[in-house]
Amino acid sequence: MSGFSSEERAAPFTLEYRVFLKNEKGQYISPFHDIPIYAEKDVFHMVVEVPRWSNAKMEIATKDPLNPIKQDVKKGKLRYVANLFPYKGYIWNYGAIPQTWEDPGHSDKHTGCCGDNDPIDVCEIGSKVCTRGEIIRVKVLGILAMIDEGETDWKVIAINVDDPDAANYNDISDVERLKPGYLEATVDWFRRYKVPDGKPENEFAFNAEFKDRYFAIDIIKSTHDYWKALVTKKTDGKGISCMNTTVSESPFKCDPDAAKAIVDAKSSFLLSLSLSLSLSLSLSLSVSLSVCLSVCLDLTHSFNFYGHQKCM
Ligand SMILES: [Mg+2]
Repeated sequence: MSGFSSEERAAPFTLEYRVFLKNEKGQYISPFHDIPIYAEKDVFHMVVEVPRWSNAKMEIATKDPLNPIKQDVKKGKLRYVANLFPYKGYIWNYGAIPQTWEDPGHSDKHTGCCGDNDPIDVCEIGSKVCTRGEIIRVKVLGILAMIDEGETDWKVIAINVDDPDAANYNDISDVERLKPGYLEATVDWFRRYKVPDGKPENEFAFNAEFKDRYFAIDIIKSTHDYWKALVTKKTDGKGISCMNTTVSESPFKCDPDAAKAIVDAKSSFLLSLSLSLSLSLSLSLSVSLSVCLSVCLDLTHSFNFYGHQKCM
């Protein structure tokens, strides 16, 4: 068990939906800044954003205070990835390594492209279907250099250390050997997944070949250095929220009460929204009730009137 827990606000698949993360004391934290990159030596933390086989594009909200997970929105609409034949939704548990950042102001020496402004992405290939907001410990096996509309977007391949088969996976060659076709499917998926949205196919550096675990760990470490510069204000994050509760060198560090105030403010907004909704609902209900009542009275009146006439 990681000791971290998550708390959902509002209904999933709505614009208001958020997943906030909490530490072992139940205090709110940022999954981007407060969860340590390392769980132990050579084992990384991973924040699960999208459970395997699901389609909603959930992600750490880098610009919102405390960086809760929320569903991505494009042109006012919630984003879902299409089922790309023959796949169903995302084909791995998908998420990010905390305390990493792909710096958009830094051109990568391997790809020649700048970073995508997000924490580094992870595809977890274990057999368990994880849950949204779950924090798992992963062993890094390799990496793919995707180029998305001119931005570097590394995809780390990793396995949950709690997977019953984890001991058999130590490098990218083990994935090729023990899960034949999975890496080819991964490239195919990333190449085509935006095509149903009218976007071009994605491209890859290194002729779409996966690099090994050592290469992957070097890349992750470099993104950890970019994150350090971000959270200590040596790099301007331009809109990224660096609010955190644990990074002592960071000018954005706040106390747990300030973190709680962020979540409470979000909740009271939601509460007032639902209260006003139910108020307007009950108002319209009472209006329709009174309309009903007056129609009934009217009918009774007419009935009586005609009744009287008949008797007369
Ligand atoms: Mg990315």
